[in-house]
Amino acid sequence: MLWFGIRTEGGVGALSVEAAERSVADTREGKPFLQSVLLLVLGGVAGLASWFAPNDVVRLGLYAAAGGCFGAAALVAARDVWRLGRKRASFRSAFSLIEHDPAPSFCTDDTGLIVLQNQAAERRFGQRAGMSVPRAVAGVLPNASAVVFRHETALAQRASAHEVIVTPRGTVRLSAQRLFGGVLWRLDDIGDGHLRTGEWIGLPMMVASHNDTILSMNAAMRDVLGRRATVLDDVFPNQPLVAGRRTSLAGADGPVEVVPIIVSSRDGRREIYAVPGMAEPSAASVNARAFETLPVALLHIGHDGEVLASNAHAQKLLGIDADTTGPLSRFVENLGRSVNDWVADTLAERVPHRAEVARAKLRKDETFLQISLSRILDGAGPSLVAVLHDATELKTLEQQFVQSQKMQAIGELAGGVAHDFNNLLTAITGHCDLLLLRHDQGAPDYADLVQINQNANRAASLVGQLLAFSRKQTLEPEVIDLRDTVGELTHLLNRLVGERIRLTLANDPGLQPIRADRRQLDQVIMNLVVNARDAMPNGGEIKLETKMVRLAEPMQRDQAVVPPGQYVTIEVEDHGHGIPPDKINRIFEPFFTTKRTGEGTGLGLSMAYGIIKQTGGYIFVDSVVGEGTTFTIYIPAHDVSEDELAAPPAEPMAPVSDPAEAAEDEDATPGVVLLVEDEAPVRAFASRALRLKGYTVLEAGSAEEALDTLSDASVAVDLFVTDVVMPGMDGPTWVREALADRPSTKVVFVSGYAEDAFEEGKIGIPGSAFLPKPFSLVDLTETVRAQLESH
Ligand code: ADP
Repeated sequence: MLWFGIRTEGGVGALSVEAAERSVADTREGKPFLQSVLLLVLGGVAGLASWFAPNDVVRLGLYAAAGGCFGAAALVAARDVWRLGRKRASFRSAFSLIEHDPAPSFCTDDTGLIVLQNQAAERRFGQRAGMSVPRAVAGVLPNASAVVFRHETALAQRASAHEVIVTPRGTVRLSAQRLFGGVLWRLDDIGDGHLRTGEWIGLPMMVASHNDTILSMNAAMRDVLGRRATVLDDVFPNQPLVAGRRTSLAGADGPVEVVPIIVSSRDGRREIYAVPGMAEPSAASVNARAFETLPVALLHIGHDGEVLASNAHAQKLLGIDADTTGPLSRFVENLGRSVNDWVADTLAERVPHRAEVARAKLRKDETFLQISLSRILDGAGPSLVAVLHDATELKTLEQQFVQSQKMQAIGELAGGVAHDFNNLLTAITGHCDLLLLRHDQGAPDYADLVQINQNANRAASLVGQLLAFSRKQTLEPEVIDLRDTVGELTHLLNRLVGERIRLTLANDPGLQPIRADRRQLDQVIMNLVVNARDAMPNGGEIKLETKMVRLAEPMQRDQAVVPPGQYVTIEVEDHGHGIPPDKINRIFEPFFTTKRTGEGTGLGLSMAYGIIKQTGGYIFVDSVVGEGTTFTIYIPAHDVSEDELAAPPAEPMAPVSDPAEAAEDEDATPGVVLLVEDEAPVRAFASRALRLKGYTVLEAGSAEEALDTLSDASVAVDLFVTDVVMPGMDGPTWVREALADRPSTKVVFVSGYAEDAFEEGKIGIPGSAFLPKPFSLVDLTETVRAQLESH
């Protein structure tokens, strides 16, 4: 029986109507007709009974009852028809309303079972007719029974009820409305879209896509902006936007300071909340506070390699301000590889995390930083945290170590070369001297021979410089008063500096003596003055000043510590072009020169450094580019009384004498000389030179040979002239052995350079003389003569 014929379009509605028909057929809605039928039956029974009535009164009564029953049945039927009609109208209108509603809707009858469902409900839930609402929507609302019960309770009081329910799959609103004879249920998805766009949030927010397009923004954001924006740059002009980092928002009434909070979703969308009116984020978040206050220098580097934030320690180390930004390569350099590449590789996880050492570019002083980068991932994508350590001390130590190794290597090389070179030069100058003896000044070859001699001497001084810097040269220290030596030197210096430069000398009247090699010290001062001259091509003044300095405390300068004590200082000051900071650390290196080839060898300062070090002193430089340079030498003052006590009885090491005087000396004490030299050319020259002077010369090519000669007791020898370093037994050793039998024999040592074992005083042979190679004919004969004459 189709008891309400709702016409629907499409199968879904038709199915629903049939279901409703089936459902209603089973319900108590059949009761009204049952009542009418019962009344009709009662009326019929009363009518039948009237035929068998015993009397008219009863019959009349039964007629009346039957009539009443029929009447009542007609009334009840009429009422039911009216009710059904209303119900039908009510459901029909409800159904016409919900049929095309996009929200799933159901109509339930008085028993709570579904009699109708619209197309959306069919699509969402499938066929649900005959079910209770909680069962029908259980897939969407996990606790549907409770919700539906609450609605039904509410409907007892009101015509409608609704509730917003947050479910794992989104937010839904279930509304129920009383119908005549049933309830209309509607399930609205207010889900993600509605909540996510944050329409109901007071905080300005927006949703942006991975490529910074604004997908939506809430009313609060629209209010602040006064417009709709489509790209992120329009809203936040300072890109990149970093979560938690204060930035400005382009508001309708000008920029608004906000702190963005960024919530990312997997599909690359970001919800960006702009929290306005907040103080510095550093104070706002514990992380930021920790970043700021940790006693570690930290940088935050963005995904594009830009330094986004730095804490106070890092700013100090890098020499930057709090608001300085830019790529890391703006602040540090000198890594083995490009800083930008390193940062990019670490960001892309192409290289393992490893600390690198770099130089802080923006600092005036030389600061090295050990930088370790760690990759972090946050809402804004990958970024880096850099931890900086001051590695200056470490790096300086390393540099010093490398430098000292370099020096040592060059020293070894110089020493080795010098040894052979000095032998060659001795042979050259010696034979040249022999030739000169046979030619007088008018001879045609004389000038050539002088040239050979002079050039050999220049070569010898170059070797001397190499040895001086490598500190392998033989110093002949004596107690000197700098006032005298510098005074004497100024004549020469004045000639050196030329017309355009004025040399002024200021001596401290209370200057104490020092113990140094006078010739070497002169050489040092000359080098400094020549450099000062070269720094002032347009002329000027060079100040040479000696001073007494008393250090009560150790003095730290550059990398050196000068112990307390009395020092004599020598200052050479110029007003030349100065030395740039990147060069100043290198000027003492051998072969470092900024002069053109032929003008500078780069050995001057390295030699000065070597000599001063070997003398127990220090040399420092101060220079300002464009203003001038001052070199300061510290040499320990010499305690005279102590010197007198320790002074050697004679000056056996002084080899120099006036050649003219020597040449004229015809009364040279003749004697027997044992000449021990492994280098044949040197030996040949030396023996000829000595023989020329009347000595009897016995030659030996080695220590062993010499001892062999001396083993014959009948061989009388007055003097040994011996090389120090020889293959096999060395000079001092064989001499010591020989002296055991011949204690009164005099000794002259000759050597190209002083080995460590052959430092001053270490020969251990009292009264011996020392003749440095290369030596001239006169040097040799004079030393021999002086030694033979000594007592
Ligand atoms: P050279 O003089 O042969 O170049 P040095 O070792 O004496 O070698 O000096 C090394 C370098 O140090 C010089 O080339 C120059 O650049 C720099 N220098 C030394 N003294 C001065 C100075 N007084 N003013 C400016 N530069 C200097």
